[in-house]
Parts: sequence; C-alpha cells; structure tokens
Amino acid sequence: MTGAAAALGPEPAAGPGPGATADDPISWADFHAWERQLATSGYCFHPIRLRGHTDAIDLATGETAPVYDTAAEPEGVLHVPCGNRREAVCPACSATYKRDARQLVRAGLSGGKGIPETITAHPCVFATLTAPSFGPVHSRRMRGKTVLPCRPRRDAHARRCPHGRDISCPTRHVEDDPRLGQPMCGDCYDYTAAVLFNAHAGDLWRRFITYLPRHLARRLGITQKRLRTLVRIRYVKVAEYQARGVVHFHVVIRLDAPGQGYQPPPPGIDAAMLCDAVGQAAVAVRLVIPVGTGPAIRLTFGAPQGTDVRPIRRDTLTSTGQPLGQQAVANYIAKYATKTLAVPGLPPQRLRHRVDIEHLRCSAHYRQMITTAWELGSKRATGQPRLRLWAHMLGYGGHFLTKSRRYSVTFGQLRRARADHRRAERHPGGERDPWGRPLDETVVLVISTWTYAGTGYTAALDGGLALASAARAREHRRVRREESAVA
Ligand SMILES: [Zn+2]
Ligand SMILES: [Zn+2]
Ligand SMILES: [Zn+2]
Repeated sequence: MTGAAAALGPEPAAGPGPGATADDPISWADFHAWERQLATSGYCFHPIRLRGHTDAIDLATGETAPVYDTAAEPEGVLHVPCGNRREAVCPACSATYKRDARQLVRAGLSGGKGIPETITAHPCVFATLTAPSFGPVHSRRMRGKTVLPCRPRRDAHARRCPHGRDISCPTRHVEDDPRLGQPMCGDCYDYTAAVLFNAHAGDLWRRFITYLPRHLARRLGITQKRLRTLVRIRYVKVAEYQARGVVHFHVVIRLDAPGQGYQPPPPGIDAAMLCDAVGQAAVAVRLVIPVGTGPAIRLTFGAPQGTDVRPIRRDTLTSTGQPLGQQAVANYIAKYATKTLAVPGLPPQRLRHRVDIEHLRCSAHYRQMITTAWELGSKRATGQPRLRLWAHMLGYGGHFLTKSRRYSVTFGQLRRARADHRRAERHPGGERDPWGRPLDETVVLVISTWTYAGTGYTAALDGGLALASAARAREHRRVRREESAVA
C-alpha cells in the first residue's frame, strides 16, 4: 500500500484512491484532504488533534461569518505538530527543528532571513570547548585522514595502571567501534570529576562568555568599557556528548558593532584577535565544587589542547581536514542541535529510584556515570538534587542549543515565517475576509475557538496512516535532497 501511494501516477478522473481496498475505500478527495492535513502538521508522528472553528466579525456592522471549521477536515479535526525535538519521539518535528537550527546558524554566518550579507565580513570563529581527560579511554585519533593507533605503549611499565590493568591499545578503531569512549581502567577513571563537569558545564560556559570581553579588551589594548562602545559578542552554541559521555560545546562566536543593524565592528579587530581571546578566556575558567568531606573537585575546560578555535572561512580546515566554511559549520551545528537530546542507550525520562539504574540497558561506563551522578546528588556528597534529576543524562541538564539574543533570527521568527508562507500559498491573491475584501485587522476581528480532541492519529484513520507514511517518505526524500544539496 505504501509503495502504491508513494508512486502516485497521474490522477484518474474518478474511482478509488491509492491504497483503497474493498473494506476501506479511500477516495481521491479523501486522500487529498489527508495529504493537506499531513502537510499542515509537518508530517508529525503524534499530532495534537483540535476541534473548533474560526469566525470573522465585521467591526462596523457586527456581522459574523465563518472562516474555517474543522468539521470540513478528515475526522473533523485539525492536526497541530507535537513540536518534540527528539528524533526518537517525532522524526518529523525534530527534522523541522533541525532545519530551523541550520537556517538560524547559517543566517548569522552568511546572511539571509533579514540579516545582511555583509555579515560574512565580520570577525567570526568556530570554537570547541572540551573537558580535560578524566582517565585514558579508547579513542579514534586522526592525523589528516589516517586513523592512528588508539594508545600505543611499547614500554611494559607504561602499559600497566596502578590496578595492574593493561592501559595500552594498538587498535586503529573504526568509527562505530563500541569500545570508543570506554575507559581502559574503570578504577583509574575519575567518574566524580566527569559527572561534575557535565553538571557544571553550563556554569563553566557562563564564566567563559563573561570572561571573553575582558580578554578581548586586553588583546586590543583597551578597557572593557571602551570595548563595549565598539563591539558586541554574539554567539550560537550547541552541546554534544563525546563518546566518553562528557559534553563539549561547539560555538560560533561573531563580533558586531553595538546596535540592531548587524554592522561590522571597527576595522582593526579581526578573527585572529578573537581566536586569541577565546583561547585565553577558556584557560581562565575554573570552578571548585566541594564534595562531602573529601577533597573539592576543580573543574576547568581541557585548555589549551581542549580548546580548538579557528576563524570561519571557506579555506579554513577542521582538525580532521574538513573545510570549515559557513555552510559546513551551519550543517555541523544543526546536526548536534537534535542529535544530542538523548544519550544512546539511555532512557529519555528521569530515574525515580536508584534501583532503576540496574534495569538500564547501557554500557557499564554509562551505568557507572549514572550511579556516580545519583550518589553525588545525596545530601552527604553535594546536596545538589539536580545531579539525580539529570542522572539519566549523565549529569548534564542544560540546553542543547543556546544563542545570544542578536545572533540572528529566532526559532519563533522562523516558525511564523513558515506559517505566513503556507498561508500565502493557500491564498495566492492575498488573504480575504468572508466578505471578499482583503483581510484587514482594523476592519475585521478574527476569533478562534479550539478544544483538545486527543493526540496522535485515530484508529479510524488506519488506511490514512499508510498514506501518511507514504507522504512522509516523500517528504523525507525531499528533505534529504535539500540537505545533500546544501552539504
Ligand atoms: Zn511531531
Ligand atoms: Zn583503543
Ligand atoms: Zn587502573
């Protein structure tokens, strides 16, 4: 059925629609109504069903006329997208979010969506802020395109840890090797520091972004006060879990002149200076966390090796030799904007009791991180309940995409633009009120009444569901084409 609907040929004048059976005839009219409904909900997997109507009131005469009624829709409901960003929950809505994230990042790098193209000339860098080492783990080290041995140690002494375990590894790991990120010795690995890093990564970031103007001013040889009259620092950042289960941040940092117009900062301030300042600010960040009666844990970024910072230009290369152009950065950030909302093998919801940890099907390493987070959350350890709240996220409870207010457009603006675009498509000659006049909010008041009618597709629409999946498959291919075109 899916195949038949996906390979829709020219539309016959009458007769059953694609996927029609003797028990469940679906007409072309039904099919098109369905397709339209799916498109409006963005092909969402668990749409919210609403019942209701929109009416217009002529403010001069008080006359009322219907504009829209869900009674005309299949099953008499309107489908509104669930908006969930997790790919595992709603691939369609998470794809929409990812597309918006890419547009938002790209607009701040190369202009568009109301941002002038002159933005490309602003000093702009791509930085990755990483945690320090918490103990040797299996890793895929690269030199250019060559994979290096993981942790080669010829000397027999250097191969043994204090627990007598072999902590060398000659393997050139493939990309999906399950050993990647796993500690060579679980007893050597500093789980407390790793979990606390995740729990305080957001605090470390806030310190970093607070220190950055200070270091930039110093680099320019001016006061911070003077800097504020010349420059604004704008950024977008995403958090990503490394294989070892520790988050790191990828950030685009750009310099603008103060004000709303996305003007360049004065000449003489360049990306190289910003690179220096980012590196210095990252080194300066530290945070001391007391843990029970034991020694306090000192958290830092793994600077200077842990901070990779490069200007964003077409000819800049990443550490793996990939070009670091504006497009590449936008795609890279968009990828992590949704990918990292869940840790592979970990539950999407919070753990209620310690015993829940035993039932998780995840690696021993992640289990140990979760257990550590749980224990650190006790009153005796840190007394911070958020460690238990976010134990299932290995301690990290922050946002996955954050940005400064004027980095570029907002998700809200993109959503509104999409709705406006759909409306313009439905009303090519401009929207009209029920009396046939161009819609004018000062002449006509539009009011809507909605009631919640449930979530997901109703069982009665099983036939429609198959059509839904076919339509979704087509939409998916369209998005893939779009993505490969921009990659
Ligand atoms: Zn959805
Ligand atoms: Zn290894
Ligand atoms: Zn050991």
